[in-house]
Amino acid sequence: MLIVMESNATTKMVEKVCTEIEGMGLTAHPMPGAVRTAIGVTGNKAQVDSDRVLSLPGVKDIIHVTQSYKLVSREFYPEDSIVDVDGVKVGGKNFVVMAGPCSVESRDQCFTIAEHVTKAGATIFRGGAYKPRTSPYSFQGLKEEGLEILAAVREEFNLKIVTEAIDTEVIDKVAQYADIIQIGARNMQNYSLLKKAGRTDRAILLKRGMAATLEEFLLAAEYIMSEGNRKVILCERGVRTFADHTRNTLDLSAIPFVKRNSHLPIISDPSHGTGRRDKVLPLSRASLAVGADGLMVEVHHDPAKALSDGPQSITPDMFEQLMNDMRKIAPVLDRTCS
Ligand code: PEP
Ligand code: MN
Repeated sequence: MLIVMESNATTKMVEKVCTEIEGMGLTAHPMPGAVRTAIGVTGNKAQVDSDRVLSLPGVKDIIHVTQSYKLVSREFYPEDSIVDVDGVKVGGKNFVVMAGPCSVESRDQCFTIAEHVTKAGATIFRGGAYKPRTSPYSFQGLKEEGLEILAAVREEFNLKIVTEAIDTEVIDKVAQYADIIQIGARNMQNYSLLKKAGRTDRAILLKRGMAATLEEFLLAAEYIMSEGNRKVILCERGVRTFADHTRNTLDLSAIPFVKRNSHLPIISDPSHGTGRRDKVLPLSRASLAVGADGLMVEVHHDPAKALSDGPQSITPDMFEQLMNDMRKIAPVLDRTCS
């Protein structure tokens, strides 16, 4: 349910409505907008006394939200959310590019890649320190040492850092180092991890599960938001289908669907979405064209020697080409890419 306040409602009136809602055993989420404040109401235990709420000073209307997801829905919050990552904005007009290796392998490797991607125009550096691998015998990441390398990259190149928290045990540690905490595809329905992410003050990059419907995806984001964290960025990273010419099938139609039904920014990951280096540039162009708010791409200076995801990692030259393409396409769509 959404309570719409009059455009001239005072802060006191908003507070009073929130207190009443909490008194009914529900949770109130005030959301100030450009013209008026709306108050989202969630909870699964109590009923709202609509007449009582409508009689409170400053209340204009009550809207019953039909979708199962509430806080993430456009019905709750009609404007596009912009997630401000310490000055780098995700969502809105600018198309943001996150780039870096699949895994943090060494300080040299990260610094080499960071130098290339910074020069080409990336603003956020990706790299896994804790890696969720299919096989327990594959490289599992440098763990805390990897986080320290990422912090050094931020310091040296003035890039923001996105890195994955693979479980509830490591998320607090990851939050100490990361600007954006990634929740990976395999964890999209790990509800205790989602709730813990919702209690941190970091932005969260939530990847779509490889067999998740869009309703499940948005409800996973709802778990994070329902704990109070509104800084959620969604990421389409491909789903598993019968097609075997690519590792996954990048579901580009998810992007306009999410943009229509949710206010949250959504980026595209054509690296995991295709698993093939030669498909990353075409699908990046397509992602911008369908309305994505940005990209996450894997870049490696020596992909043949990468400890994970070498076949889908593009080279620094290809990344430069990718950024040139994005800068050419963005203005056609009234976007920027800086
Ligand atoms: C990754 O970003 O390296 C990763 C493991 O992604 P996903 O969770 O989408 O597989
Ligand atoms: Mn990877």
